[in-house]
Amino acid sequence: MLDLDTIDVDLASGTDAVLDSWRRGWTIPEPITLSAWADKYRKLPKEGSSEAGDWYTSRMPFLREIMDCLHRESTVREITIKKSTQVGGTEVGINWLGYIIEHAPASVMYVLPTIDTARKFSEQRLTPAINLMPVLQERIPPARSRDSGNTTLMKKFPGGVLVLSGANSSASLASMPIMYLILDELSKYPTDLDDQGGAEQQALRRTSSYVRRKVLRISSATIKDACAISAAYDAGDQSRYYVPCPHCARKQVLMIDQVTDDGQYLCVACGRLIDEHHKTRMLEAGEWIALFPERSASHRSFHIWSAMAAIGLGYTWREIADMRAEARKDSAKEVVFVNTILGEAYEGASQKVEANDLQLRAGKWVRRTIPRGGFIVTAGVDVQVNRFAVQIVAWGRNEQAWIVDYVELPADPTRKEDWDILWDFLAQPVANAAGITLHISAAAVDSGNWTQEVYNAVRPRQSQGVMAIKGSKDATKPIIGRASKQEVDTKGRTQRKGVNLWIIGVNSAKSTLMQRLLGDTDRDEESRLIHFPKDLPDDYYAMLTAERFDLAAKRWLKKKGARNEALDTLVYAYAAALSPSIRIHVKREADWAAMEAKLEPANDDLFTTRAPLAIAAQPRPEATSTTEQTAVQTSAAVVARGTPPAGANPFASPDWLSRRD
Ligand SMILES: [Zn+2]
Repeated sequence: MLDLDTIDVDLASGTDAVLDSWRRGWTIPEPITLSAWADKYRKLPKEGSSEAGDWYTSRMPFLREIMDCLHRESTVREITIKKSTQVGGTEVGINWLGYIIEHAPASVMYVLPTIDTARKFSEQRLTPAINLMPVLQERIPPARSRDSGNTTLMKKFPGGVLVLSGANSSASLASMPIMYLILDELSKYPTDLDDQGGAEQQALRRTSSYVRRKVLRISSATIKDACAISAAYDAGDQSRYYVPCPHCARKQVLMIDQVTDDGQYLCVACGRLIDEHHKTRMLEAGEWIALFPERSASHRSFHIWSAMAAIGLGYTWREIADMRAEARKDSAKEVVFVNTILGEAYEGASQKVEANDLQLRAGKWVRRTIPRGGFIVTAGVDVQVNRFAVQIVAWGRNEQAWIVDYVELPADPTRKEDWDILWDFLAQPVANAAGITLHISAAAVDSGNWTQEVYNAVRPRQSQGVMAIKGSKDATKPIIGRASKQEVDTKGRTQRKGVNLWIIGVNSAKSTLMQRLLGDTDRDEESRLIHFPKDLPDDYYAMLTAERFDLAAKRWLKKKGARNEALDTLVYAYAAALSPSIRIHVKREADWAAMEAKLEPANDDLFTTRAPLAIAAQPRPEATSTTEQTAVQTSAAVVARGTPPAGANPFASPDWLSRRD
């Protein structure tokens, strides 16, 4: 009879797994590194991977050292991968799960941002992977057999169990003690969960009873100072992958600034251009070098970005250069580019935009006129207990915006007559620089506060471009998603003519607009993205800047007691401009040129007397009442009376919105 205590002493190095194996009467498996394990067993499914079949670590050589830190015998307790998308981060997680199940059984938890994403991961990524590996199938009974211990969110195997959890649920994180923890898409976790601290901390507590615990963090980054993966990367040894130049052999970290516009790479040492076909050899000869090697024994942190992806397994350098060119033009794309291509946190969205600075940018023109370049008009409406706050915005190329008007109409949203005041206001045309009158193409009305009143008022006007919207606090929501039918009849059936509700990603929209306002600081007046007339109400700028990005909550929050309707209604007008019937963000130059030709004919017609460019500097309360008709304005009137310009630019008939149902 063996004495368990004696055995424990004998195995001074005494690993939990060795003891566990002995108690189960198993033989101790031959040591094998995770990369060798993956090369031996891992198969990639056809779905969702560009290279189906056997896994070759040699295809992504930089993953080898990362994976081998996950080896049971490695002393490294924390492994952090800060990365761009499509560089194999989650595949490392799946390899490790397979290795644990087949080779190093223990309790393991895999956490994703929500229960829903955990379920999808299990069904779409993990199960197909298990089904391709007989060594794993043997250990995990089919899900269909009763009491098999195999469900979507839990897989039992000899010597261990895998639990899949959602970071949005305290309950799902509060399971038994776990030895191995994988935190995937870490930067999307909620930071405060039921007052129990963040999801990351809650999950980490599960591992506290294991000396030989391991934690793998995988994520792309988000906004600087609010990004969990960046914080973890900084706490680790901060390793970067150095690859040699094929010309001079100098090792260097690939950097975006060295990628040329045509997709070559400029060596920092010899200044010669490197073609992308050299990349395979460069990656093979690469090595990870830590900035803080003294931390490497306990916490390795790695940064991987798109330029490192193996040829055929991600974006080419040329594609990256093209995306960079797009991102330079558009701050919304810039955030995405930095996060998902460079794999870095984005700085800037948290910087301040000051009301006084914005007020100084006001132009020489007045409200209710549209300067050159504005071709499409939208409105955003906020409904309050005693008023409608309304903002009207004109849009042009590159989403350039001109604030056309901001007013607050006293009203009681429960009274139908008061809604007519709003519709009358929105029906008033606005004159542009060429004297042509434009009508509002779409108006977004917030239904958050007076839901049923808004539904009733909007329902009959939906075909005229009026939209019921609702802001979502979810920071990951796109600025405008799809509409959904909201109303049901007495039998619970969806009403065909019911209200379409559009969910607005207000956080994304505010980040984008604030970034543009910030970026405008360094732009000359012509090229600014958001323009203001000279006579907006004094409190407009204070309201526009009433919110700050809260780094802990990861969303835009209002200063206490401040009003923010100018910002909210600008967001709504922007969402209307991106809605499917308008889509300013996907218009091509040909579309804009066609609009310009019709709405600003003086630009193109050499035979017409040009109107003074500063025409919009004169107030034009009634475009039709002008007595100084120029040739331009006459031709403009023809355009205004004729067919609506450019099908992509659906100006409604002059009685738009004013029709009563
Ligand atoms: Zn070189």
